[in-house]
Formats: sequence, C-alpha cells, structure tokens
Amino acid sequence: MSGYSPTLEALINKFRSLPGIGSKTAVRLAFHMLNSSEEYVNDFSECILAAKTRITVCKICQNISDGEICPICSDMSRDHGLICVVESAKDILTFERVKEYNGVYHVLHGLISPMDGINAGDIRIKELITRITGVNLNPDMNAEPGESDEVNEMQEIYEEIAKTQVHEIILATGSTVEGDVTTTYISGLVKPFGVKTSRLAYGIPVGGELEYADAMTLFKALEGRREI
Ligand SMILES: [Zn+2]
Repeated sequence: MSGYSPTLEALINKFRSLPGIGSKTAVRLAFHMLNSSEEYVNDFSECILAAKTRITVCKICQNISDGEICPICSDMSRDHGLICVVESAKDILTFERVKEYNGVYHVLHGLISPMDGINAGDIRIKELITRITGVNLNPDMNAEPGESDEVNEMQEIYEEIAKTQVHEIILATGSTVEGDVTTTYISGLVKPFGVKTSRLAYGIPVGGELEYADAMTLFKALEGRREI
C-alpha cells in the first residue's frame, strides 16, 4: 500500500512502465500531470493518441511517416540510387544531422539475431530487395489516373523512384554482432544484382550504437566507407 489514491497509483504505475523511468520520476511525473491545467493534460493525451493512430510506415523506405510516402522519399532532389540501410527510424535522425548526405534510407526495424529468435524474414529485408529490383515497388496503388490529385502525385513519385537504378547500398547497421550478421546477410543478397555494397568506416566505437555517434564522426565514417 502506497497511501496514494487508487487513481493516482494507477497513473504512477503507467509512468513507471515507460522505458528509463524509475519510481521517483514516475511519482514526479504523475504529480506534474495532477497539478497541470486540464487543457494541458488533454493536449498531452491527444498527442499520444494521434501519434499512435496517424503514424504509419513509409511504403518505400519503412521510415516512420504521417503519410504513405515520407518527406525524405518524396524529395526528388535526393539521390534515390544511394540507400543507407539502418536498424531503426531513430538512426535516420542521426544521419540527417550530417548535412552532406543526400541519399535516401531503408529502415530494417531490427537486426538479425538468431539468439533472440529474430531471423531475416522478421525484419524489412524483403522490402529492400524489392526497391533494388524495382519489381512490385508499388503493390497497393491500384488507383486509376485522375482519381485524385494526392493519389496522382504519389503515383508520380513512385514512378520516378522506380526509374532510378539503385547504385549503392550503405550498410549502416552499427558494429555490434547482430549488425555484422545483418550486414553480411544483406550484402550476400544484393551482390547478384550488381549493386555496390559498402559499410561505414570504423570510427564508430565497436559495439557502439549509431545514435550515440556525433555528426562529425558519422560524416567521417560515411566518407571513408569501404566496399564489401
Ligand atoms: Zn520513405
């Protein structure tokens, strides 16, 4: 028994279930909500709900997106033939801090890890191969031309990207054991298509994760990438 009301106790427990939040912080956050205006709390909960209901993944790169195609894939000034393959959508934010990178991305949503029961089929490798081969790039778009401006615009982006030959895949899955396994697996799959595969130069600490790399280190790692 904590002495808190059951409703407050339930709120504290919800905060405590969040990653990185301990008991003391959970109590502090719960009291913060309790002492905030109703408007603030409404805004806050609506924001969480909106994030959960509206956010989807980009049909092309699998990045977290508000629409069918993310802003990076919709940007035709970028090099759509250069794809940087990353473990999670968070890694894109890290790479975007390196202003010199003008390619696009592919988010795997995980790494191959047989010890944890995660195999190649469990992450978005199939979608990457589809982008390289250009087959079925646009499986769900059955709309007739002229159906709506939005659909037409999306169709144009798909067609434009489908015309672009992928010339290089940068495997940027970090230098952990799982990252290495994933890199080796994907480069083996991609090679027969005649696409150059490279991986980041070291400079990223071994076992380190990309999100902790600063922009300059990442820029050097990108610039010095080695073909594999
Ligand atoms: Zn995208």
